[in-house]
Amino acid sequence: MTGFVIPAPAQAQLPVVGGGAFPVRRVYCIGRNYAAHAVEMGHDPDREPPFFFQKNPDSLDASGQFPYPVKSQDVHHEAELLVALHSGGTDITTQDALAHVWGYAPCLDMTRRDLQGEAKKMGRPWEIGKSFERSAPVGPLHPVSDVGHLSSGEISLTVNGELRQSGDLDQMIWKVPEMISYLSAYFELAAGDVILSGTPSGVGPVVRGDAMELSIAGLDVLRVDVV
Ligand code: MN
Repeated sequence: MTGFVIPAPAQAQLPVVGGGAFPVRRVYCIGRNYAAHAVEMGHDPDREPPFFFQKNPDSLDASGQFPYPVKSQDVHHEAELLVALHSGGTDITTQDALAHVWGYAPCLDMTRRDLQGEAKKMGRPWEIGKSFERSAPVGPLHPVSDVGHLSSGEISLTVNGELRQSGDLDQMIWKVPEMISYLSAYFELAAGDVILSGTPSGVGPVVRGDAMELSIAGLDVLRVDVV
């Protein structure tokens, strides 16, 4: 019998509306998945192949507080729909993809934009801008059995009550089934994997003291205070 030689890290998890917790294995994030956001970041909105980066499971944080991170003076909000999978596999077809979805949650892909910008300029990976501590504030997960599948409806974010981001889930360039199918061609997806599905236009900076509110049609509002 062998045991862990150090204490085992806590299992990353998301709270579930109605009780219980969803264990998280991997966090995939898609880039530039709304045309208006691609344009605001200086890119052509044409449908080029999607691309992904990852955050770490323990980047997810349901505390309702976002501690302003170190080493950045330009931290941006990105309002996103999180998709949680209860099963996976490889080479999943778009027709079969939604059968793997367990639920949906509102999530913020917080970004150290200055560090991400330097990384982009130098052709380096994005992790330093994206995958820092508590970089993915998240609300409780809503089971598909309660809310169905979300393919349209408002997604918006206010800061201190002022509208900053506004779009519709139907504006995603790559829809949820397409993202699952595409990812499963390159990775083996599994139960516990979650996907952040991209952000509409209007990303911008926050400062300590700001209150962010993310609304997605059909889900509870997520409020996150920058501390
Ligand atoms: Mn994002």
